[in-house]
Amino acid sequence: MNLDTLYQEVILDHYKNPLNKKLSPTFDAQVHHINPSCGDEITLNLTAVDGVITAITWDGVGCSISQASVSIASDLLVGKSFEQAEAISDDFVELMQSKGKKVGDEAVLEDAVALAGVSQYPARIKCALLGWMAIKDASIQAQTK
Ligand code: ZN
Repeated sequence: MNLDTLYQEVILDHYKNPLNKKLSPTFDAQVHHINPSCGDEITLNLTAVDGVITAITWDGVGCSISQASVSIASDLLVGKSFEQAEAISDDFVELMQSKGKKVGDEAVLEDAVALAGVSQYPARIKCALLGWMAIKDASIQAQTK
């Protein structure tokens, strides 16, 4: 199995069995983000305690890349401080802007490295970033609450 096939499997697995896809009844911030160019849509709830993200739940519709990416991010960024989450998100944005030149650090990005190939398709980058931007937005709102 080559890396591309493996990465396809990771993306499809998150798409079919998304993590944290059930909006929590309580939250510190709720955001709704859309990607009109593809039709992707997510609502995301974020909870934080003492500067640490304790829960990210979401609901949404859209392409496999957008839905898999928010599933991955919602799992990866829980338990991280706002600062750590921002640093990891910055790494992911950098990967998405690399035009296929970077592979991503799996120690930092975990399953998100499976999305590295998306950086070669400018039209899909917004799909991959949708969930991450929603988490960033929710983090800012939760911190200023
Ligand atoms: Zn999409």
